[in-house]
Amino acid sequence: MSGAFEAAIFDMDGVVTRTARLHAAAWKELFDAFLHAREGPGFQPFDERADYRAYVDGKPRREGIRSFLRARRIPVSPAEEAALAERKQSLFERRLHAGGLETFPSSISLIEAFRARGIRTGVVTSSRHGREILDRVGIAGLFDVRLDGIDLAELELEGKPDPEMFLRCAQALGAAPARSVVFEDAVAGVQAGRRGGFGLVIGIDRGGNAAALEKAGADLVVQDASQLDFERLDSMLRARDERNAWQVEGEGFDTAREHTMESLFTVGNGYLGVRGALDIPLPGSQSDLFIAGIYDAKRGHLPYSELEFLAPERDDPYAELVPLPSPFRLSAAVEGETLDYAAPHRRELRRRLDLACGVLCAEALFETQGGRRTRLRTRRCAAAHDPHLLLHEALLAPENHWARLELEATLADPHLAARHPHLETLEHLLAGELELVRYVTRASRFEVCIAARTLREPAALRRFVSLFTSRDGADPRGSALAHVASFEWRDFDALFERHGARWREFWRAADIRVAPRPAVEQALRFASYHLRIAAGKDPRVSVPARALTGRAYEGHIFWDTEIFMLPFYLHTAPALARNLLLYRHRTLAGAKRRARELGYRGACFAWESTVTGEDVTPAEIVLKSNGKKVPIFTGTQQVHVTADVAYAVWRYWEATHDEAFIAGPGAELLFETARFWASRTVRGERLHHIRGVVGPDEYHHGVDDNAYTNWMARFNLEQAAWAAEHYGRSKGEGEEWRGLARSLYCPQPNADGVIEQFAGFFALGDYPLGKEELLKAPVSRLFDWDRINRLKLIKQADVLMLPLVFPEAFSDDIVAANYRYYEPLTDHGSSLSPAVHAAIAARIGLREDAERYWKQALWLDLSNVMDNSALGVHPAAMGATWQALVFGFLGVRYTDAGPRADALHRLPASWERVEVELAWRGAPYPITVART
Ligand code: BGC
Repeated sequence: MSGAFEAAIFDMDGVVTRTARLHAAAWKELFDAFLHAREGPGFQPFDERADYRAYVDGKPRREGIRSFLRARRIPVSPAEEAALAERKQSLFERRLHAGGLETFPSSISLIEAFRARGIRTGVVTSSRHGREILDRVGIAGLFDVRLDGIDLAELELEGKPDPEMFLRCAQALGAAPARSVVFEDAVAGVQAGRRGGFGLVIGIDRGGNAAALEKAGADLVVQDASQLDFERLDSMLRARDERNAWQVEGEGFDTAREHTMESLFTVGNGYLGVRGALDIPLPGSQSDLFIAGIYDAKRGHLPYSELEFLAPERDDPYAELVPLPSPFRLSAAVEGETLDYAAPHRRELRRRLDLACGVLCAEALFETQGGRRTRLRTRRCAAAHDPHLLLHEALLAPENHWARLELEATLADPHLAARHPHLETLEHLLAGELELVRYVTRASRFEVCIAARTLREPAALRRFVSLFTSRDGADPRGSALAHVASFEWRDFDALFERHGARWREFWRAADIRVAPRPAVEQALRFASYHLRIAAGKDPRVSVPARALTGRAYEGHIFWDTEIFMLPFYLHTAPALARNLLLYRHRTLAGAKRRARELGYRGACFAWESTVTGEDVTPAEIVLKSNGKKVPIFTGTQQVHVTADVAYAVWRYWEATHDEAFIAGPGAELLFETARFWASRTVRGERLHHIRGVVGPDEYHHGVDDNAYTNWMARFNLEQAAWAAEHYGRSKGEGEEWRGLARSLYCPQPNADGVIEQFAGFFALGDYPLGKEELLKAPVSRLFDWDRINRLKLIKQADVLMLPLVFPEAFSDDIVAANYRYYEPLTDHGSSLSPAVHAAIAARIGLREDAERYWKQALWLDLSNVMDNSALGVHPAAMGATWQALVFGFLGVRYTDAGPRADALHRLPASWERVEVELAWRGAPYPITVART
């Protein structure tokens, strides 16, 4: 196959065959007789051109009858409708059999041009005579798939403008709609092509219909296929792909998927994140705003990591990220009729997240009483250059009326108490253009102040929303008011521009080009977008497991940041990486307290942490369905996080040579964590051991000598000893750490090359792992923890983490032996797992595995692979996907001359070239890997 296309799909009547005239004539005879009988000789006849096009063209027969008679305000009973439909059929058949059927030769040539390039073709028509007509004119053989009105009825497909027929045709052709082109002459058909997400929709205007086809969404309108050639279409699709690779679009909404869309469409800037709920909220919208660092006591009825899990209430005042109400809230009405996205009067809706400049746009068409059509366009962003600022614009545009329009914006949430139970309202002020709300969190007593200034023009508004909290200064109210006071209508565009400029700057450092795979580029950009909006300037906060996009994990911070996300920041925005490490430094006091509480020295970082460093991991969770309690062992046992922090300190130092950091907070982090290990290890007969832990694989607890934990702890001790030597402090301890590092037992490959995950793992029982059990959130596993603990069943990469973090420590043979052993035992119950497997599989040349795992990771949120993106996106999986590309497919290693891709070729089969730039010690290192 050549070119960008996978399939070309043609409407029949009016595109390929000239049956339109026969149809129009039959419709005219039908309706004129009907109207004459009803209204007498003065009736207004059916117009074979205008009425045909506006009401019946392209639609199934009965729909055509309904829509024409509705326009004439003539009610018909279902029986009358059926009789008319039957009569239309026989009038058409009479004409058909009288002969005179023709095709459009230019269309036939175009179809042949597609077929000559190996591209599959299909034909779709609502006509029940589709097949008969194709046979009669002798072109049935030009199509691999034919769908006509009979199939439509048999398969119970909706007619155009519903996209089902086109989608079914693409499916039968084995083609992705986004890689297919639709040719249509009817408005309903163009709409169907657009709604189906087809790569290109070409309108064929056989006279006077061009504007309507264009308006319906045709990418191009021509009068005849002779104006088209294959090359032109191919380059159009490529150009479109380029554009699409910078955006994520959603058409309409589906209640079942809406919470996922809200997560994906989050806008943010590290200081805050606002979920992408629609501006006019749907009844079930989860339209939360999160501000980094604003935590409160846990409310027991909110979900924990999955909807089915509840964590009990607890005293800690900083246990849970606070969901605040969305500040992007509108109401609109046309002639007193309130616009509602969920009501049938909403005709169209499209949302688009512009990744290039971090803006979310929505456009909807409403058709209210009396056929009044009104468009609502909105856009919003969280300013990248000013973390306290949100920009919001809404525009109501009437299309065919002068009716009264209303458009309002508000910060008030009518469901505040139920949906945002952490908040007490201190103040709600409305004064002209200004609105101000002030909340205080119930237990942590953080004050959050949101001020909005709404400026208006007829049927349009522009809002400047400012957010400050008591974490930002003593007077958040004053700061927010002062911030919005100065803005004018015209400042809006300039602020949008400054915001966009910041994004352009980011992409210059972070964009990855993968030729010729725009869909891969798009998904990578989506991941980079989310990683970028997850982190900010404030060194008192870090990135929660679901960033600021959803409620899962209560906004807790895990090893996800240091091990999975950090490399992305190191190589695209090192200042952000530094802030994330400073967060660990700021929470050292909590980590030290925790070490003491557990009976150890130094600092023991919390498995789940918020602003104080206190451990906030729930000790148990409750299954919502049956009230059963499940103990959680990670909080006390998953101690590798402490070494993960030290590892990240060292990686940061390696990548930046930031002397001030390593000599100060970096060294302190290394020392305190090493002190912890010095007290946490126990002396055995010959060597030291680490007992009673949970490794990355959370299906096993209370295990001894988890390979990952021990290897990481040893590295922690070694780097602390190195820092003690270089930074002239703790020298005596340095020696002790070095000695301990040498005597710490670190599991080594056995005779088969396999490293035992922990002492006794090889002797556990077998578990027959079924394909259907993969990539599921581990609800049932937790339920069954006692049994699972005794089986060889692994939640996520554990031993296989080692070659990711220490790539030079193992030969390819050892890595391969471990992959072969552990991969079949792993159910990927964590989103962190597939990308690690992709990286390792790529390294050892298992291309199919590498590609399969990588695709799962790359589209984890966009395709909701684990069915839990509704509660937030997965930034650690995004970071791991980035690592799998850079360190796996490109084989990047650090050399004296900076990061370099190794010479071995590992690119997925359909890739020709990858270009990426990695920041390293203050300079950009461009890396290109091309298929030779
Ligand atoms: C994984 C952990 C991860 C956490 C937060 C859990 O399901 O097992 O490794 O840190 O999710 O993403």
